[in-house]
Amino acid sequence: MATILITGGAGYIGSHTCKLLASVGHLPVAFDNLSNGHADAVRWGPLQTGDICDRRQLRAAFEAWRPESVIHFAGLIEVGRSTADPATFYRANVAGSLALLEEMAAVGLRRIVFSSSAAVYGIPVSSPIPEEAPPAPVSPYGETKRAVEAMLDAFARACGINYAALRYFNAAGADPEGELGERHDPETHLIPRALRTALGLEPELVIFGTDYPTPDATAVRDYVHVSDLAAAHVAALDRLASGGGPLTTNIGTGSGRSVQQVLESCRRISGCRIPARTAPRRAGDPPELVAATGRAARDLGWRPHLSDLDSIIATAWAWHSARGA
Ligand code: UDP
Repeated sequence: MATILITGGAGYIGSHTCKLLASVGHLPVAFDNLSNGHADAVRWGPLQTGDICDRRQLRAAFEAWRPESVIHFAGLIEVGRSTADPATFYRANVAGSLALLEEMAAVGLRRIVFSSSAAVYGIPVSSPIPEEAPPAPVSPYGETKRAVEAMLDAFARACGINYAALRYFNAAGADPEGELGERHDPETHLIPRALRTALGLEPELVIFGTDYPTPDATAVRDYVHVSDLAAAHVAALDRLASGGGPLTTNIGTGSGRSVQQVLESCRRISGCRIPARTAPRRAGDPPELVAATGRAARDLGWRPHLSDLDSIIATAWAWHSARGA
C-alpha cells in the first residue's frame, strides 16, 4: 500500500481518482483548499485542508503523511475567467505548482502526475492531435498548463523529479456506482448544463456556435469518462513506480462527438425535451479537439472502457437526477 498525496483531491477528477486508488490498495490523502472542491467527496482517505500556494502547509502535509508520490489536480479551470483574471490563474496554477515542486524537491519526493490539458494545443492544425503538435495555447488557462509542463521538464533535469503530464481532453460522466459526480460552481460544461436543463434547473441550453466546419456545424470534442481518466492516473503512478521516465501524453478516446450529438444523447437518455437555442461561438473555442491515442496505449497501457457517449451521459444523468442538481 502506497500513500499518495492528491492535490485537488476533493474536486471532480481528484475525488474519482481517490476512490480508484483506495480500491487498488493505496491510501489517497486529499490535499485541497476547498475553494472549489467538496469535503463530502473525500471518502476514501483523509482530507488535509491546505493550499498549494502555501509551502508551510505543503511541508506539514508531507511530514504528516510521508507520501511516496503526488497527483497534482489542484488548479483553476474556467477558461473564460482566465482571460478576465489572468493573475489569479497564474498564481493558482503556475505559482502553486512551483511551490509544490520546490517543496517536493526539498523533501526528496520524486514522483508526480500532473493534470495538463488539451488546451495546450490551442487551435490545432490537424485532427486527431498528436503529442508532437507544437503547443500554442489561446487562453491564459492553456498557457498556465504549458508553463507547468515546462517546469516539470526543468525539475526533471535539475533534480531528478519524474513526472507524467496527462493532457486531458473533455472529462465527463460520473462514478458508475453513483457515489461521485460533477459539481462545479459556476457550471460551464456542456453535459452537466444540458442535464441541468433537462431537470428544469436551467431554462434552456445555449449551443455556442453553429458555423463550425464540422459535419453538423457544431463543435466536436473528445469526451472521456472520468473513471477512465482516474484509471489513467493509476497507470501513470505504476509507470513512475516501475522506473518509466518522464512522459507527456494525451488522455482521450480518439473519437469526436459534436455538441448536437451530445444534446441528442442527453435528450434520449433523460427522456426530457431539453430546450435549446443557438448563439455565436464562445471566444477561443476550436472547431474540433480529438486526441491521438497511440502514446497513452503504448506508454501507459491505457485504453478507455466507459467512454462511449451513452455511458458517459447515462452515469452523469444518474448522478444529476438523483441529486436534483
Ligand atoms: N458548449 C455549448 N453550450 C454550453 C457549454 C458548452 O455549446 O452551455 C460547447 C462549447 O462551446 C464546446 C463544447 O460544448 O464546443 C464543450 O464545452 P465544455 O465547456 O464542456 O468543454 P471545453 O471543450 O470548453 O473544455
